[in-house]
Amino acid sequence: MTPAALVRSLLLALPAMLVAGACVLLDAPAGATALVVGLAAFAPTLNSLTRTERRRTAAAERSREFAQVLIDAIPDPTYVKQQGGRYVMVNEAFARYHGMSKADVLAGQLVGRAEDTANRALSLEEDERILAGAELRKEEHTQRHHTGEEVFRIISKRRGVYLDGKPVVVGIDHHITEWRVAERGHKQALEREVQLRLRTEQFVQDLIDLLPDAIYIKDAQSRLVMVNATAVRLRGMSREELIGLNAMDLAPRAGVGETSLLEDQQVLRGEEIVKEEQSVLPVTGEECFRVVFKRRCFDVDGQPVVVSIQHYITEWRQAERELNRLAQEDALTGIANRRCFSAEAQRAMDTAERHGGALTLLLVDVDHFKRVNDQHGHNVGDEVLVELARRLRAVLRKSDLGGRWGGEEFIALLHGGPQAALEFAERLRGIVADTPFPTATGPLRVTLSGGCAEYRPGDSLSSLVGRADEALYLAKSEGRNRVRAERPAMPG
Ligand code: GH3
Ligand code: MG
Ligand code: MG
Repeated sequence: MTPAALVRSLLLALPAMLVAGACVLLDAPAGATALVVGLAAFAPTLNSLTRTERRRTAAAERSREFAQVLIDAIPDPTYVKQQGGRYVMVNEAFARYHGMSKADVLAGQLVGRAEDTANRALSLEEDERILAGAELRKEEHTQRHHTGEEVFRIISKRRGVYLDGKPVVVGIDHHITEWRVAERGHKQALEREVQLRLRTEQFVQDLIDLLPDAIYIKDAQSRLVMVNATAVRLRGMSREELIGLNAMDLAPRAGVGETSLLEDQQVLRGEEIVKEEQSVLPVTGEECFRVVFKRRCFDVDGQPVVVSIQHYITEWRQAERELNRLAQEDALTGIANRRCFSAEAQRAMDTAERHGGALTLLLVDVDHFKRVNDQHGHNVGDEVLVELARRLRAVLRKSDLGGRWGGEEFIALLHGGPQAALEFAERLRGIVADTPFPTATGPLRVTLSGGCAEYRPGDSLSSLVGRADEALYLAKSEGRNRVRAERPAMPG
């Protein structure tokens, strides 16, 4: 080979050698000098060396290109950095992310950019550790300097050996912004939902707390999940203590809890329960009346719950009872009034009519009662009437009926015939006449007259009272302080 041909082939080989073996040449300038210096002396050897080198260089270039194609296929920004931070290979995603060409990155333009200078010291320090053999994998949440756009990425760095045999930092920035933002959006949506749910629950709680009825909300297992302020007050337990308890825990006595559980199951199947209960209040033990409504509804999760509303009607029921009592009792003496006596007497007469059994009516009237009023005043007259009612009640048997017929007239319906009735009337007369009545003006002597009439089939109360009244008139006319039986019935 002529020297000219040698130089030409050398010149042809050099650019390739410089690319693939740049580091070798740069790292060993003395060797390179020696190689060039010796070229003339060893021309044939040099020639074959050049061919070998050319092949090697071409192979290295192909490797590099292959490596480039490979990393370009990676969707995440990927780079290879030398010690000192110089990029020697980057992929398309990397160049795109940084908004410059791969060539510009390799030419060092990225290194000088303002947004990267802040992280550069940290990055170099990391690179040193990577080159010493450490591995790095970290998540970073940053804002891009020029766009303000936030970026989440997982940064992986590890040591590699470059085509020239030197250690390099190989890094992949796995961008996960989309997922992290979606995740954050999901978390925020969840949080908003939780907040909305809490606000809804609080609203429902506030709402039911305003109601005067006791409200219990139970799940499908009959466990309390919500109670209102009235329920808390009536139970004498805190809301926290009540939540989670079931009907068995709250039952005041055996059987009540079981009934409640069965009802809850009915309600969960869609039935409605409305019932009135008489019970006692858990804290005070006072008698109470309530109307219980049980209905099914669905909670915020769509689960069925039992809503039990306990509407207390104690005052109304007690007032009603008092009214009933007043309607039946004589207001002054407390003994049955004429209306109540009449109703009960009619029932007793009906029974006697159907089943037989003797009944005798006794009518008594205070003798000269006007005088009591006139001499001692109306109040003393009242005291006499109250005491007379007390003495009458004291002698009546349980099965007998007694009442105030009107004014100073009292009445009794006694089981048995006229003889027994006369004996009873005589006893009462004695009890009245023999013991003076204590009054505000001192003891008063009081007497009464009485008339008896036996119930006859077909009698009305008024016909029976009429005959007793006739007998009473007889007693009065015979001088008072005595009892008389009706005249015997006309035979036939
Ligand atoms: P007699 O022996 O004939 O029965 O004489 P009497 O004075 O008892 O006669 P009469 O039956 O006519 O009088 C009843 C009186 O009773 C008239 C009335 O003023 C009085 N009186 C009626 N109801 C009450 C009452 O609730 N309280 C008082 N203090 N007096 C009453
Ligand atoms: Mg009278
Ligand atoms: Mg009288």
